[in-house]
Amino acid sequence: MVEEAFDRKAVNVETPVERPEDYYGELVFDRRKMFKYLPMDAYEALIDAIENKKPISRQLADVVADGMKKWAIDNGARHYTHWFAPLTGGTAEKHDAFIEHNGKGGVVEEFSGKLLVQQEPDASSFPNGGIRNTFEARGYSAWDISSPAFILDQTLCIPTIFISYTGESLDYKTPLLKALNSVDKAATSVARYFDPEVKHVTSFLGWEQEYFLVDESLYSARPDLVMTGRTLMGHESPKNQQLEDHYFGSIPSRVEAFMLDLETRCHRLGIPVKTRHNEVAPNQFECAPIFEETNLANDHNLLLMSVMAETARKHNFRVLMHEKPFAGVNGSGKHNNWSLGTDRGAMLFAPGKTPMDNLQFITFVANVMAAAYRHNALLKASIMSATNAHRLGANEAPPAIISIFTGSQLAGIIDNIKNSQGTDLSDLRSKSQYSLGLAQIPEIMLDNTDRNRTSPFAFTGNRFEFRAVGSSANCASAMIVLNTAVAEQLNMFRTKVDARVEAGEKLVDAILEEVRELLKYSEAIHFDGNGYSDEWREEAMRRGLDCETSAPVMFDAYLKPASIKMFTEAGVLSEVELHARNEVKWEMYTKKIQIEARVLGDLALNHIIPVATRYRAMLMDSLVKLRELFGDEAAKMGSSDLETIRKISSHMDSIKKMVAEMVEARKKANAIAGEREKAIAYQQNVAPAMENIRRHIDKLELMVDNEMWPLPKYRELLFIR
Ligand code: ADP
Ligand code: MG
Repeated sequence: MVEEAFDRKAVNVETPVERPEDYYGELVFDRRKMFKYLPMDAYEALIDAIENKKPISRQLADVVADGMKKWAIDNGARHYTHWFAPLTGGTAEKHDAFIEHNGKGGVVEEFSGKLLVQQEPDASSFPNGGIRNTFEARGYSAWDISSPAFILDQTLCIPTIFISYTGESLDYKTPLLKALNSVDKAATSVARYFDPEVKHVTSFLGWEQEYFLVDESLYSARPDLVMTGRTLMGHESPKNQQLEDHYFGSIPSRVEAFMLDLETRCHRLGIPVKTRHNEVAPNQFECAPIFEETNLANDHNLLLMSVMAETARKHNFRVLMHEKPFAGVNGSGKHNNWSLGTDRGAMLFAPGKTPMDNLQFITFVANVMAAAYRHNALLKASIMSATNAHRLGANEAPPAIISIFTGSQLAGIIDNIKNSQGTDLSDLRSKSQYSLGLAQIPEIMLDNTDRNRTSPFAFTGNRFEFRAVGSSANCASAMIVLNTAVAEQLNMFRTKVDARVEAGEKLVDAILEEVRELLKYSEAIHFDGNGYSDEWREEAMRRGLDCETSAPVMFDAYLKPASIKMFTEAGVLSEVELHARNEVKWEMYTKKIQIEARVLGDLALNHIIPVATRYRAMLMDSLVKLRELFGDEAAKMGSSDLETIRKISSHMDSIKKMVAEMVEARKKANAIAGEREKAIAYQQNVAPAMENIRRHIDKLELMVDNEMWPLPKYRELLFIR
């Protein structure tokens, strides 16, 4: 059976002969494989450790490593790697072969518990915001037993956390696991009001990954795409998304073959991808799995992103994960559908059948709203990056303001609770359309179709959908903030309700009273209108929501006293870590813009200007010849060409002048010592210069002979045939 699994790699995956249920998860060291490859006592001890979040002993690690190695080798693996997500984004791997000297001049295939559990990748070049320089120049990766190992490209990949020698996290997984622990504890304590048997609350994540596909050969001819992931120039195509004919349209067969291949690979890796469709923009697509526990779902998203890139190349495509690869057409996001559920099967953001279920529902919704309101600036910072800045708060994009959409039905319930007096809500019966089981609590049947697509954070029936997350992001960044903020809020809620109960109030009354307080407190973040409108920007400002538009300044939110308090009290991130991580964010921001500016300068001066010069010379040549042939008459005949020559010259002059200014701005910014100030200088002085240069280049694109133009145009890049 095991040989079979390996052999399958050789067959053409484009026409799978088996059903997903046959090969689903075959490349994952899941419970089935653990059971098969581990001695019974080791299997039981490992499952116990996973389920109850316990550390594993060195002896157990040795036994597990041995079983894992056998399984991996049986399935064709030759190498192993610790697989982690450094702060640069993406994933990092350092492969080692299983071989060790056998002492007789040969080798044996070895893999010890020590190597499974912990490694010291010499990763001193990963960004660390100064942590490793200050303390110790080594980082450790350590096995996360809650996320199963898998085989990718004949390499056994072991999901790990990545920390400094002194224990500070240098990755996303470490704080994510801590945030998930903290929301588990806090939500469990509140869920016990409604069901005393609850032992754990799990945070769930279902991401929706948007992406663009571009033909490989066209991609290679665009140095900007190759080096920055987005087009730094390119005039709008005459047709793009006006007709919205791409959305949910039929998928081109070349793309369909890619998707099928991708899905098959994902299923073999245990990633439960389920949904695929075209997106609004031409060449834009989406892929979404069945939701999973947040840490696992996030690993699966990271894995999907690398598998997707690889699969695309096999099909002569390149996948673009950039949030805004093309100006003038929709950008790409990664909606984070998020919810909490108990080990007793209750989904905490889903209305239920009984009044108590519904009180629980409103309780959790109100706590999320309050948490999102308190930390709205931080939530925004958590999704912000140099690339996502193009998608939010820029032209053609929703504003960089976090608000929550609830839909009219939930809004009605919220209003009723907020506006009623005391704890007797019996008058709700007459005012609302909901029938009431218990006098106080409305019975709720939510209409799922009430969907607002312009909200960055929306309630969608049984979950919240954090839509502002960028397509290239590590979801962990948003999930760390969201889960920690909600944990903090639930802890406060629990304290307040308990105090009321101790003072003699009935539990239901105490809960309802506190829910009402929270709904009133978080009023400002509740917005069901059009998030894209200018009026909303003004209104949000009046409401006191964070309206900062500069990405590097947004990162300050991580260092506000309220944020530091929240992160440190939950034990998710220390103050040192918060400072270090911000340094990394600023540095990354600067580097991204810096690279773009260099590429743009190069393209402008070495590709565009020479071509425009040649075309101008052609026009001038023809004018001279006209004069030779037609004498004075020629002036009239060539007047429009003359005009074109003037225009081209003027655009060329502007481009040269602006590139020189941009280089100057960069030099000035580079001389700034502080990472924050440097990033702000890049944002204020370098990024806008790029937009201006682009405008002139795009004008030239429309004038210069199509045959001469050195770069594939939007109309070619954006339509797969
Ligand atoms: P839409 O585009 O309408 O939002 P999709 O089907 O594309 O819907 O994606 C919905 C995503 O939300 C899927 O990943 C799905 O698994 C996930 N999801 C559904 N219910 C929940 C839930 N309770 N908690 C977390 N994620 C959920
Ligand atoms: Mg969605």
